[in-house]
Parts: sequence; C-alpha cells; structure tokens
Amino acid sequence: KEELNIIQGALELRTKTVEDVLTPLQDCFMLSLDALLDFSTMSDIMQSGYTRIPVYENALSNIVDILFVKDLAFVDPDDCTPLKTITQFYKHPLHCVFHDTKLDAMLEEFKKGKSHLAIVQRVNNEGEGDPFYEVMGIVTLEDVIEEIIKSE
Ligand code: ATP
Ligand code: ATP
Repeated sequence: KEELNIIQGALELRTKTVEDVLTPLQDCFMLSLDALLDFSTMSDIMQSGYTRIPVYENALSNIVDILFVKDLAFVDPDDCTPLKTITQFYKHPLHCVFHDTKLDAMLEEFKKGKSHLAIVQRVNNEGEGDPFYEVMGIVTLEDVIEEIIKSE
C-alpha cells in the first residue's frame, strides 16, 4: 500500500506543476531589504524556523535576494547590521521558475544543486497594461518530495 502511494506520487510528478505545490507569497516569511538585524528581527527569524528567507525591496512581490539563516553566524544583534550588508556579502543567486514547470523537471533542477528554493512566477496579462512577471510564491525541494511520499 505504502509503496503504491509512493509510485503513484512519483508518476504524478510528470503531470503536476510547481503551481500545485507552492507556498503562496502571502504565506511566506520574508524580510524587507531595509531591515536591520537587531535583536527583534533576529528573534523573528529564529522563531520562524525557516532556513531560507526571501528578501523583498519596496513591495512583497519584488523579491531581490535570499537570506540563509547560516549567513547570520557572525552577526551580532547589538551591532544592528543592515540586512543589505549581509545579502551584498553573500550574494546568493536567485532561482526563478515558471508556474507551469512540471515537478519532475523541478526535481531535476533541484538535484543539479544550485539551490533548494525557487521563486515561482507567471506572466500576468490580465489587466489593461502591459504583461508583467508576477511572483506567485516559493517552492522548495521539500514541497516536491512531499508530493512523492504523501500518503492518501
Ligand atoms: P530545511 O528543511 O532545509 O531546513 P526549511 O524547513 O526552512 O528548510 P523546507 O524544508 O525547504 O524549509 O520547506 C518546508 C515548507 O516550508 C515548504 O512547504 C516550503 O515551501 C515552506 N517554506 C520554506 N521557506 C519558507 C519561508 N521563508 N516562508 C514560508 N514558507 C517557507
Ligand atoms: P542545507 O542544504 O539545508 O543548508 P547542508 O548543506 O548542511 O544543509 P544537507 O543538504 O542536509 O546539508 O546534506 C548534504 C550532504 O552533506 C549530505 O550527504 C549529508 O549527509 C552531508 N552532511 C550534512 N551535514 C554534515 C556534516 N556535519 N558533516 C559531514 N557531512 C554532512
């Protein structure tokens, strides 16, 4: 039974897309690029429990960087270091994917190793104006694995 579920989950990777498993933007724990790494902010980060934290500039949908909790190893909250100083030092690459990326392709990309988190975007051409890239949320390796091993 368990094995069948896993096989089923693995087969569904070819048909399901990242849009089916993403964490929507409004549920993401993120930081503003102009945040200060004071005690309050660093406590919030620790309490969130997340390892990778998207960093936005001005608007939540404008993700410009990603902070890894391990980047904070040498940061002293008493220094109130600007977050920007840390992100500019580490410069982790941002990994973006389209909403219709199939999960098997996503798994391959994650296995290639760059990063285990990707920003999911789509082209929004609904309104009056020009089409634009819209960030829908984030997807991690965990979300794809979850789809394989979930038991129903
Ligand atoms: P790790 O397990 O590698 O330490 P993590 O626990 O921070 O990382 P994942 O295991 O990659 O995160 O993902 C667990 C779930 O949390 C997934 O559904 C993922 O989409 C979601 N997630 C990851 N980072 C964030 C974040 N910053 N804000 C909200 N949800 C997140
Ligand atoms: P993350 O990707 O969440 O930042 P990480 O890079 O420290 O975590 P994993 O991605 O979980 O580690 O594991 C990568 C590989 O490194 C695995 O093969 C794991 O067994 C190995 N590994 C993890 N921690 C250690 C360690 N302290 N010493 C040696 N090998 C480790």
